[in-house]
Amino acid sequence: MHFYNFDKNIKTMKSAFIILTIFLLSFQQSISQTKEEAREILNTICSEAFHGRGYAMGGAQKTAQFIENRLKKLGLKKFDKSYFQKFKIHVNTLSGNNSVSINNKKLIPGVDYLFSASSDSLTGTFDLAIIDSSLISQPEKFKKFIHADFSDKVILIDTLGLLKRNFHDAYQMITEINTLKAKAVVAITRKKLIYSPSKIRKDFPLIILKQSSLPNKPKEIQIAVDSKYYSAFETQNIIAYIKGKTDTSIVFSAHYDHLGTMGRDVFFPGANDNGSGVASLLTLAKYFSKQKKPKYNIVFMFFSGEELGLQGSYYYSEHPVFPLKKIKFFINLDMVGSGDNGIKIVNGTVFKTEFDKLVTINNRNNYLPSIKIRGKAANSDHYFFFEKGVPTIFIYTLGKYKEYHNIFDTPERLPLSKFEGLMHLLIDFINDL
Ligand SMILES: [Zn+2]
Repeated sequence: MHFYNFDKNIKTMKSAFIILTIFLLSFQQSISQTKEEAREILNTICSEAFHGRGYAMGGAQKTAQFIENRLKKLGLKKFDKSYFQKFKIHVNTLSGNNSVSINNKKLIPGVDYLFSASSDSLTGTFDLAIIDSSLISQPEKFKKFIHADFSDKVILIDTLGLLKRNFHDAYQMITEINTLKAKAVVAITRKKLIYSPSKIRKDFPLIILKQSSLPNKPKEIQIAVDSKYYSAFETQNIIAYIKGKTDTSIVFSAHYDHLGTMGRDVFFPGANDNGSGVASLLTLAKYFSKQKKPKYNIVFMFFSGEELGLQGSYYYSEHPVFPLKKIKFFINLDMVGSGDNGIKIVNGTVFKTEFDKLVTINNRNNYLPSIKIRGKAANSDHYFFFEKGVPTIFIYTLGKYKEYHNIFDTPERLPLSKFEGLMHLLIDFINDL
């Protein structure tokens, strides 16, 4: 008996050792694959063929189909006949001609200038009328200036030294509502160019131009911009889940839309915003689909219309496919592609128990350099759920990566420094709930 037992123990130890080795190997493998697969996803959905995941060129639609295919392949369940939850948005889109030259110098879209997404169409060559601090400092000249006829001119306004001189309201009126009734308005900036989509179309084009790209003595401008306004553009959220042992759910969400295109040649890749969130959700979906049945349903929500003002998540929160009360915890991921300085958790102060749990897991495993806390904020798709009483946090990564709403937010630049760390943290957290 004794020897038999001993022998059996050795056998058990041997097989345990083999199992452990296999486990460690597969664990290592899955770690390196996670980041590689995330990169593959980013390289696809941030490519030119996905047109910045906007509306007019079908980019958001193409992304939705890409996500749908992945979910199907993983065997995730639908709440309805389809993963899609359709809804309609208003959006102004710029997808045709798009060029600007000043004094015959052709400017580079996205680098030298951006059109405001609310721009109206316009083509032609126009004289520039310049408003700057030297004009404002001569009251008589300025008075005469503002009474001129600008109907055939383009106003170029340089704020340097103006905003300090109580010119703020006038600046707003000229750039927001074209109060001087010019053909178009050019606003000079010394900051980084940041593009935002628009739900409305104004009756004039607005160009944001970098001061360093402005030729000397600007006199004449050539503009070509085509905009198209949609009052009811159909898009969709995508909702899928893995069945758990109870009817309570854990939700992961990320928006998959981005800013679309600015003209035919310029698109916004949106690798960090929010290709990174989409890649995270698909990684988590793959992971949980290969595990044994989880305690709670694990639901994945991919929202559209976020960049236009949280449209998709708002629509969902008004038309949930299962009761919001059945959500145990809701985690929104938006811009999670860096992490060299850790993560920040919006609503961490509100859901302190869950925040502390994440910190404890992280301290034990060293997944991320730090987890920072933040109060509530209406800055991403968690917001309307929180307003309706769903316990929710929003996680974004912190790091050196600063490309935001511009043409440089590309997969090649995005470090994904702590991608696996964040995935491990979330998996441990869910398994511990
Ligand atoms: Zn964004």
